[in-house]
Amino acid sequence: TAVNVRRWVEQVERRCQFNVEQHNRRFRGINHGKLDEADGWMCYIDRDRMDQVFSNLISNAAKYTTEADGEIALGAHVHLDERHIVIKITDNGTGIDQEDLPYIFDRFYKQASSSRYNPHGTGLGLAIAKEIVETHKGAISVESDQNVGTTFSIKLPITQQSVIEEPEQNKEGESL
Ligand code: ATP
Ligand code: MG
Repeated sequence: TAVNVRRWVEQVERRCQFNVEQHNRRFRGINHGKLDEADGWMCYIDRDRMDQVFSNLISNAAKYTTEADGEIALGAHVHLDERHIVIKITDNGTGIDQEDLPYIFDRFYKQASSSRYNPHGTGLGLAIAKEIVETHKGAISVESDQNVGTTFSIKLPITQQSVIEEPEQNKEGESL
């Protein structure tokens, strides 16, 4: 479905906040000033599948942080020139070994050390997330520092609204 970028990100933020709080972690949200730039831009999103990606990343972030000081942050960055948006999920958890980083999106891959936190994990969560993001013609990447934390970035293409018809805009009288 074609969705308004700003409204979709706001919806993602609400869901992520709810989800993070369900895991008893602190949530830090988006600075909304930055999203103003995306006014009038759309993206094609399968909301349910993308919700699955975010809840996956949040459940990982919760696993590798502690209830005492775990914080999970959501960020959104609009790049109009390159016609994409980047959504970031950052945690202040254990981080990931540099040696493991290239493999974490592989099916069934788990860090040796992760069995301590997540003995029953299948190692499929990130592989599925990557598949969903790539189906959206997007990309997912990771940066991590041990004992500092981990950031997952999801890059998705956006399109100018005038290219797409949106029912709500039509009501206001076809000014486009
Ligand atoms: P499942 O998602 O099926 O329950 P899983 O969480 O082990 O299993 P993935 O979500 O694919 O599998 O993650 C793969 C591995 O990447 C994890 O086992 C863990 O070692 C590492 N990892 C993922 N996210 C984080 C994170 N936020 N902090 C630290 N390590 C992470
Ligand atoms: Mg997982």
